[in-house]
Amino acid sequence: MYDIGIIGAGPAGTTLARLVVGKYSVLLLNNSRPKCCGGILAPEAQKILAQLDLALPKSVLVDPQPFAVTIIDANSKLIKHYPRQYVNINRNKFDQWLLSLLPASVDIRSNAIYKKIESEKSTSRNPLITIHFIENGIHKTEQVKWLVGADGGASLVRNQFFKSNPKLKKYIAFQDWYDNNDIKIESESSELSTDINFFNNYVGIFNNDLTDFYCWTIPKDGQLLIGGAIPISNGARNKFDKFKTYINSIGLKTGQIKKSEICQIVRPISTSAINLGRDQILLIGEAAGLISPTSAEGISTALASANALADAFNSNRNILNDYKKNTKNIIRNIKLKYIKKPVMFNSFLRKLVMQAGFTALKK
Ligand SMILES: Cc1cc2nc3c(=O)[nH]c(=O)nc-3n(C[C@H](O)[C@H](O)[C@H](O)COP(=O)(O)OP(=O)(O)OC[C@H]3O[C@@H](n4cnc5c(N)ncnc54)[C@H](O)[C@@H]3O)c2cc1C
Repeated sequence: MYDIGIIGAGPAGTTLARLVVGKYSVLLLNNSRPKCCGGILAPEAQKILAQLDLALPKSVLVDPQPFAVTIIDANSKLIKHYPRQYVNINRNKFDQWLLSLLPASVDIRSNAIYKKIESEKSTSRNPLITIHFIENGIHKTEQVKWLVGADGGASLVRNQFFKSNPKLKKYIAFQDWYDNNDIKIESESSELSTDINFFNNYVGIFNNDLTDFYCWTIPKDGQLLIGGAIPISNGARNKFDKFKTYINSIGLKTGQIKKSEICQIVRPISTSAINLGRDQILLIGEAAGLISPTSAEGISTALASANALADAFNSNRNILNDYKKNTKNIIRNIKLKYIKKPVMFNSFLRKLVMQAGFTALKK
């Protein structure tokens, strides 16, 4: 029997496990799938890492470290460059590093797929929960007092225990990887007036004909990652392929795909879509819907919500109430992003702002 069972060893799950383990016994289940992620640490993520007293090891970093984001508006054909202090990381190594910080007292099952739970029929206020999971192909069960869903955007824990919320919009994220050596830049064929340095910068591309979210390219250790978040539909892959045709038309001639990734990404359309849990079932990170509705940046909120829940567990009063109080700032920051959202995603407003050139770098 364990006090806390955590499903998912992403940044949220590993951080919670590390911060509660002295006081509570912890079971951590993870299905060890490689992560589909851009691997960009935004300033918010850097700040929470500093608050958690964590410094990134060199092994997690990748080349280059971009100091600017290039924004391309495919609808208005405008390009602007904005200064940004990002840290470029290898996402799988980042997760492995966070996992390596856990003491041996956390019971980590790294090839275990969570399936379902059963609550004990009991009159006790906190009945035990039986977790069913498949570990190395074998069906197993363990009992816990608290279940924490830290199982990311496609969270099974959230889907099993909470009604689906139409304000949590679902997207399919595609990422195709290419070797830089196989890429040719032919800017003279481009319909855009300025050259884009795909090998140095993080590039965000808005194209309202294909998605109401956005697409991106990120250079990583001699490779270029081309990705996009497209609303879930049968034609989603087709739209992502059209995006790559567009990229080609602005001068980026890609070679053979080295690796393709696909996963679900959720986007809270309003903060009412955020769900922190109920009774003894709690949600953290992207499972709770805690992700930026403008950039899909979610590492900072995964770390911050794990820290908020750990503080609630460690103060050991009313855990759910304290967790809700501790996440107020995280949710307020997400709310602030809604002010920016219409400007970024409405093609008319975006064009006005980009034409005005506020905070853009002069090139
Ligand atoms: C394409 C893409 C690009 C992104 N780029 C960025 C970026 O550049 N910067 C940024 O800050 N954010 C980015 N995000 C968002 C970010 O990846 C997530 O918000 C963040 O990883 C959330 O952390 P988490 O710990 O909540 O969940 P996750 O990191 O998703 O971890 C969940 C874990 O649970 C495990 N799991 C899931 N189901 C089960 C199960 N049934 N049983 C056992 N284990 C299970 C998974 O294997 C995983 O290890 C991106 C997201 C996508 C989809």
